[in-house]
Formats: sequence, C-alpha cells, structure tokens
Amino acid sequence: MRDWLSHRARTSPDATALVRAVTGEAWDFTELDGMVDEMAGRLVALGVAPGDHVGVVLQPRVEYVTLIHAAMRLGVTLVPLGDRLTARELAEQIETADVTVLVCGAETEARAVEATDDVPLLSVESTTTTEVVSLTSVLPDPIPPASWSLADVQLLLFTSGTTGEPKAVKLTMGNLLASATASMFRLGFDPDDRWLVTLSLHHMGGIAPVLRMPLYGMTVVLRDEFDAGAAADDIDRYDVTAVSLVPTMLRRMLDSRGTLASSLRTVLLGGAPAPRELVERCRDYSIPVYPTYGMTETSSQVATARPDEAFDHVGTVGRPLFWTDVTVVNEDGDRLPPGETGEFVVSGPTVSPGYYNNPEATAAAFDERGLHTGDVGYVDEGGRLYVLNRVDDRIVTGGENVDPGEVADVLRSHPDVHDVAVVGIPDAEWGECVSALVVSDTDELDRSGLRDFAREQLAGFKIPRVIAFADELPRTVSGTVEREAVREQLIERREAVAGDT
Ligand code: ATP
Ligand code: MG
Repeated sequence: MRDWLSHRARTSPDATALVRAVTGEAWDFTELDGMVDEMAGRLVALGVAPGDHVGVVLQPRVEYVTLIHAAMRLGVTLVPLGDRLTARELAEQIETADVTVLVCGAETEARAVEATDDVPLLSVESTTTTEVVSLTSVLPDPIPPASWSLADVQLLLFTSGTTGEPKAVKLTMGNLLASATASMFRLGFDPDDRWLVTLSLHHMGGIAPVLRMPLYGMTVVLRDEFDAGAAADDIDRYDVTAVSLVPTMLRRMLDSRGTLASSLRTVLLGGAPAPRELVERCRDYSIPVYPTYGMTETSSQVATARPDEAFDHVGTVGRPLFWTDVTVVNEDGDRLPPGETGEFVVSGPTVSPGYYNNPEATAAAFDERGLHTGDVGYVDEGGRLYVLNRVDDRIVTGGENVDPGEVADVLRSHPDVHDVAVVGIPDAEWGECVSALVVSDTDELDRSGLRDFAREQLAGFKIPRVIAFADELPRTVSGTVEREAVREQLIERREAVAGDT
C-alpha cells in the first residue's frame, strides 16, 4: 500500500484538502500532495530513511499535516509528542520511543534543544539556533519509493498518562485502516465533509481526521489553538460538517455562542464521560451529538452512539463499531451477561499489537482475548455500552466496594450540581473513604442537603464523608478528570471541611 494522499491526489485533484482556520488559506489535494513531496524530499536530504522514528513536537499547524503524510510517503514511523510537555517529559518520551530524529518549530524549539543532545533536531522554519537544522534550508532530494504492509507500525502514539506514565502505543497501517473504515460506517460517508480539527495532533482524536482526510477525500479545517468562541465561529464561517470534541470544549463552545451552526452533521464527543446535562443541551438545540468511547490502543473509537440513541438512552456510548468486539468480564476473567458491571475487553483489527519498549505493560493489558481496557462498565440488552469508571478508581471502604461512577451519577442528578468527581482518599478507620469534589451553580447547596439527597438513592457506606466545593474540576488537556489532583485537593481540604456538615 502506498501513502493514502498520493492516491487521493490522483482521484480528486481539485477537491479542497486543507483550510487554515485563522487565515482562510486553502490547499487542494494536488497542492497538498506537492507540499508533502517537498517535505518528504527535505527529510530525505537530511538523512531520514525507512526504519526511522520521526518525533514531532509542534502545535497543530500546516507543517504538521504535511509531516504526517510525508512520514507515510517515506515509510517511516511518526512519533507525535505533546507540544506542551516540559523538556524533561519530552526527554523521557524521546527515549521510550527511540526517536531517531526530532522535528520542532519556533514554539517548541527551546524545549526540544533542552530535551536531547544526541537526537538530530530539525525545524519546520528558519532558525538561528546552532543545534537545529532548518528543513527550509535544504533542497528536496528524490524520494525513494516506499510501501506499507498492514502489519507495519505507522504511528507510535502516547497515551494520556491518566493512570501512570504515558505508554507508546504501536499503531499499524492495518489498525488505522480498520479504524477509518469502521468510523465511516458508523458516522456515514460524505466526500463533501469539512472536518474541524481543534484537538491536539498528538492524541488520536486530533490526528485521526488528518490521517483519514485523503482516504475519505474530505476537507480538514485546522485550528492552530483551541479557543471556544473562535472554534464555534469556524463552524459557521467554513460550513463545517463534522468536529471531534471533548466534553469541556463543547460546553465552552455552547457557553460562548449559545448554539452551533446548522451545517454540522456530526459532533463526535469523547475522551471523557459526556455529562447528562450536555447531551440534553445538544438535544434541545438539535446538535447532532455522537457520544463515543475509545482510546489510543484501539486507534480511536470502540463504540459510538448516534444522536437518537444518545437522546433516548442517556449515558450510552452506543454499540461497538464494525470490526470491534467488546466483552465485559469480572475479576476472574469470566464473561458477564448484559446489565452486569465489569471490565471491557476489546478485540478486533483496530486493537494495537502492544506498547513499544514496554513488555510488562503489554503483558498486563494484552492477551489472546484482546485488550483489557481498565475501563469499567456494562452493556444493556440492546448491546449498548455504558462506561462508568476505571478499574483503578474503585473505592474500598470498610471492606465494601464502591463504584465512584455510581455515586457521581447520583450527585450529578441533583439540580444544583453542575459537575462532580468522586474518589477514595486514605482513611485511618475505613481504609478509604468516599469523597466528592463538587462544582455547583449556586451558593445555596450545602453538604448536609447533598448528603440527604444522596441517602435517598445510595446505601450508607456509599455516601461521601468528605465533600468539598470547587469552581471547576482539574482536567487534562484531553478533558479527562485528573483524579490524582482531585484526591490531593480533597486530602488537603479534609480538615477544613470536616467539622462542617
Ligand atoms: P493512560 O492509558 O496513560 O492511563 P488514558 O487512558 O487517559 O491514559 P487515552 O488513550 O487518551 O489515555 O484515553 C482513553 C481513555 O479515556 C479510555 O480508556 C477511557 O478511560 C476514557 N474515555 C474515553 N472516552 C470515554 C467516554 N466516552 N466515557 C468515559 N471515559 C472515556
Ligand atoms: Mg489508557
């Protein structure tokens, strides 16, 4: 298989491939193909060859898009790294992924220089730093022909690091192709789609539409930096039809602009649980929301609900995509029937062959049954998935198991609770005690009122002993709640809130 863009440049040469949202500049597939040839040729001139692990640390920008497709054209593995990582974090990931050459830009150059002294550094623009070679300073060399087999590793993509150190996930050409087709089967196919990309390109949700753009023949509208109001305006300005968002982004966009333009046919909402209130707002404003569950190890979506399903079965992420099988297992690995809560195990061609350079983590998560996701949830009678929380999040208090997702759901159903995170914090008497960090819209809500409300629906041992209020929950850039930070806040504030009921 050759790179996907070269095929598309032949089949739809004049269709728009890329639009830069802030300026309105646009490139068709012929032009993008030329830019990718130039980028690939310059990389060859600077010694990049098949087998290399090309690290990229850049904001979402046009050069990043050309690098993604240049890597596929050259037959090299791309290693997208977080553009906000510190030099120390970058150094760790460079080492873990055996990065052989690192591409940076003005916005990341200083950290790239600090992060490494033995990996060659290239910049996408001119530079005066002596350690860095500018890609624009060399003439492109001819590109040696390259082709891919389905089992070849195209991407090493780091997980978000919610449960520990980020792991480098091997994603093969076959993984990416299976995921692209399955996603298209669920969301529907329209070559006139214009997909707004505003998530970072080092996460699956951001890079997936950029990779798929030539495969689908659609347009990517690229926003360099997320700004809620500006992203909402992009949708209007460019007649955007599809966008992937994490729940906090969607909420901020709705808060800033009220609703979103009617050109939209798909709002893929994932990365973290979609709060009920947000899904209901989408229903009220006729926003076509597709709640989705996925992860880096499955090349993005595992399951996705269509809007009607999302509105009729609040909280669901829908049925698994084509190709993908999901089973729910208990702690002994036995398969559970619908309605019973356990860990999701995912199998099929979108599942990564494992983590790079990490046999322990690979052995712990992958076996012949598939990927043990570490996510806890259940499947209903109709085969729809509900994600509750992570295996590691389970709270054990006085010998009883408490599912923090269940407690959070109950608290969240209180009309004055805007958002909530439930965690266990160490407790001398109980081992752990159930604790909640609550975001409320009013000053009216007090702890005893909230406990009384919870007591109507939950057994006594599940009622949070520690409740603290905050203006917002600490979240990662991808929108997942930073449970460790929640835990720290609650431990720190425990004394202060202890006497107060
Ligand atoms: P790490 O694996 O390093 O701990 P991570 O799992 O957060 O980090 P990602 O691959 O970016 O890294 O995120 C995937 C995870 O996000 C899923 O395993 C799941 O826990 C969570 N997630 C994704 N979509 C949803 C959703 N719709 N509802 C609830 N959780 C979700
Ligand atoms: Mg994970």
